[in-house]
Amino acid sequence: MTIISDDENFKQNNKKNPVVKSESIEYDRTFENSIRPKTFENYVGQTELKETLKISIEAAKKRETNLDHMLFYGPPGLGKTTLAGVVAEQMGAELKITSAPALERPRDIIGILMSLKGGEILFIDEIHRLNKVTEEILYPAMEDFYLDMTTGKSQSVKTMRLPLPKFTLIGATTKAGELSGPLRDRFGIIHRLEFYNFEELSQVIKRTADILNIKITDEGAEVIAKCSRGTPRIANRLVKRVSDFAIVKYDGIITDEVAKDSLKALKIDEYGLDSTDRALLKMIVEKYDGGPVGINTLAAALGEDIRTLEDVCEPYLLQIGLLQRTPQGRKISPEGYRHLGIKDFSAQRNLFED
Ligand code: ADP
Repeated sequence: MTIISDDENFKQNNKKNPVVKSESIEYDRTFENSIRPKTFENYVGQTELKETLKISIEAAKKRETNLDHMLFYGPPGLGKTTLAGVVAEQMGAELKITSAPALERPRDIIGILMSLKGGEILFIDEIHRLNKVTEEILYPAMEDFYLDMTTGKSQSVKTMRLPLPKFTLIGATTKAGELSGPLRDRFGIIHRLEFYNFEELSQVIKRTADILNIKITDEGAEVIAKCSRGTPRIANRLVKRVSDFAIVKYDGIITDEVAKDSLKALKIDEYGLDSTDRALLKMIVEKYDGGPVGINTLAAALGEDIRTLEDVCEPYLLQIGLLQRTPQGRKISPEGYRHLGIKDFSAQRNLFED
């Protein structure tokens, strides 16, 4: 696996998460890379998607050709990058990783495309953030495997067609809706990654504990799974944090008691919400009468990055039903009021308003 170019995105997605506040992001990424599953067997869950991919891989191998271009979408941390790695491993192909914000100038993408060898896999993260020029360079490259290069100026301008080796592009995005139609249409396989259930997260947690060489009970894994927001990345970070507690404050085994105490100390509640999620819900209740309120207003009022709210906080709050999205903005649900331990006065208010 080659990481061609880095971007600020990873940092953006992680800087507000209190679970990683105490350690450097670089260290966290090293940890993340060290535990990435490399085979379908170790890649937990996403069963349907794995079956579809296995068939595509088998077919490509039999035909001795490259795999179709693929688009994986879903919230951060659900395993899009990891899956691209598994696909590359199964194809016996090199994986080159980059991200859309790092492909600013035409020469960035041209350089990468020209360095590709036949069958190689190019992974572009946050692909909805590609600029127009880069996107247009990609169209013929994806469709017919050539690069249109222009040289010279005004009247002496010449167009050259450079053939490219047959490669596979895997795009990942948290916002499939923001991809342009022409780009989306060039992906043969489009898949949404789902949040993981508690059982799947427990498997991820036990595997990571094993790699970290720390003992964990079934109950301990279950407690962490319930607080992991359906997301393996969060599950892994929590195992790491809880294992620190287990080693320093207890006898080195993650039991349900140890897990509960550690998560409490990390200010993670039983739904897996952290201080940012709770601040968001509280803000809607206390300042905006329970909503609806626009996400831009909320981001400004909380002093939070809008992308963190949209990509990290919101999908899970919507999924577990604490938050509702309406055309007028975000609203807290009756379940959201209950979770905060605040009585919902909105029904009485509506009665008076009527
Ligand atoms: P994304 O690209 O969707 O943001 P990643 O692929 O970087 O997410 O996954 C984040 C972390 O979660 C990785 O370190 C990986 O080890 C773990 N992970 C993700 N999906 C799975 C899975 N299905 N099984 C086991 N671990 C997973």
